[in-house]
This record gives sequence, structure tokens and C-alpha cells, in this order.
Amino acid sequence: MSNVSRRVWLGRLAVLAGIAGLSLRRAGATAPKATKQAARYQDRPNNGRMCGMCKYFIAPGGAAGSGMRGGTMGPGMMQAGSCQLVQGRISPMGYCDFYAPLSD
Ligand code: SF4
Repeated sequence: MSNVSRRVWLGRLAVLAGIAGLSLRRAGATAPKATKQAARYQDRPNNGRMCGMCKYFIAPGGAAGSGMRGGTMGPGMMQAGSCQLVQGRISPMGYCDFYAPLSD
């Protein structure tokens, strides 16, 4: 395979990957979540940063970003919830490498 044909082939592959991604989104498919190990999740805060203050945290019965607002804990904030990005039950006091503050 020459360099030119390889470039064309890679370009077509990128277009197909983009189409496949759009199709999955239209079908309502969700991206697979990372394992706790891959996200380097821990059950304790990291320098004051914690899941309850992360935009990906989902409080029990809540929506994403339903963690602490204004530094206060809402109903159920002491119970484990879930995360948009990481598998399993997530403690509001936990932390991982994907942390993103609610204000971002
Ligand atoms: S992305 Fe990480 S820090 Fe944020 S809620 Fe999920 S597990 Fe917690």
C-alpha cells in the first residue's frame, strides 16, 4: 500500500468512525463507563475535591451534576450514587482522575 492510498484509507476510516458515532448517539446509546481501577477511583476526597462536587456525579434519584450546590449537601447526599463516566456505586466523598468541578 502506497503512502497516498494509506492516507486516503485512513481518511475514509475516520469518516466511517464519525458516522458510526453519530448513529450511536441518535440511537440513544451511551458510551461505556470506565472501571474504577482505570479511573483511579478512591473512596476519599483529594484535597477537598470529591464526587459530590463533580459535574458527573449522580445523587441517588438525581440527575448528573446533582451533587452539592453552593457547598451544601442536598437530600440523600450522604448516600452512594452513580457517575456518568465510572462504573458502580460512587460515594459522594470519593474522587477519581476524571473529576470536573460543578462550576466548569
Ligand atoms: S467523574 Fe470521578 S470524581 Fe466525578 S463523580 Fe465520577 S467518579 Fe467521582
